[in-house]
Amino acid sequence: MCSINEIPYSTSLKEIRYSIYDNSNEFEMAEKTVAARALNIYFVPEAIAPNGQSVCGWASFPAEYYKTGKNWIVIRNDCAANGNTTLIHEVGHFFNLYHTHQGKNPNLGITERELANGANCGSTAGDGLCDTPAEPYMGGRGLLPIVNNDCDILCEYRDAKDNVYSMGYNVGDSVRYNYMSYAPTECRSRFTDEQIERMKKSYLVDRNYLSNLCPGVVSNLCDPFRDEKVLLKLYRTLGGPIPGNWSGVTFNSDGCVTSIDLKNAGLTGEIPIEIDDLNYLTTLNLSNNNICGTLPKSIGNITQLQILNLANNQISGEILLKLKG
Ligand SMILES: [Zn+2]
Repeated sequence: MCSINEIPYSTSLKEIRYSIYDNSNEFEMAEKTVAARALNIYFVPEAIAPNGQSVCGWASFPAEYYKTGKNWIVIRNDCAANGNTTLIHEVGHFFNLYHTHQGKNPNLGITERELANGANCGSTAGDGLCDTPAEPYMGGRGLLPIVNNDCDILCEYRDAKDNVYSMGYNVGDSVRYNYMSYAPTECRSRFTDEQIERMKKSYLVDRNYLSNLCPGVVSNLCDPFRDEKVLLKLYRTLGGPIPGNWSGVTFNSDGCVTSIDLKNAGLTGEIPIEIDDLNYLTTLNLSNNNICGTLPKSIGNITQLQILNLANNQISGEILLKLKG
């Protein structure tokens, strides 16, 4: 992390009257306060889930960010107090970790519950990882494993083959449950190596806009996966159809974008700030469209850029160009 940018409650959240926070005003609030290249955390007095229940908070997976631009975590104040591990849990989701009891969620590519002995662990069962404990599905929010004051499980939970889940640990173990479990918050205290690896990868790839903040973290190497994500975002925010063959876009032999020529393409919307992730871009021609908003300053960071044509749009703002040559 490079910095913390605090927006005081008194001048933002309170001012725009978000004493009760739910999905319906989430985007409205974010529009006014969200920082583009940050892990935004909203601490709120109350958090209401779509089903009407008060919950501790929520985060969205990276896929959601590429779909809707959602790049924040919501956390209820009392769930961020000393000893409560909910924020850690939500940060896990933010960096693409699933629940350890995950299963049967085709949206995540997960279609099976993990068996107690972990025999079916892997990409399609449980949380998709093998070094996390197999954990029982509790049937929904609020149905936590029943434990005593020492966090020992008091009941037996069984899988589809009638084997007992150990939650990865035996009674009396000093190491407690996984942060991504639904075990009581004070009983959760660890991530596994595979989870940490998965978060690191997500930080550098899915959430590369974070590491780009820190000089030296992201190399100038060509990353076709990252470029494709930027293109998808570009097409989404510009409101244009995504051409199957990326017509108008030219790639180098490594698969990175070198030229975008979308003049007269009927584009509307705004240019996304992530445009400067296209670090091999030499030509950007978006002239004769109906693009509006402010020109992202980040365009000035594209050191390879030689031709920039944005004529005949409704774009405001200026950039400090460090054009080559
Ligand atoms: Zn969760």
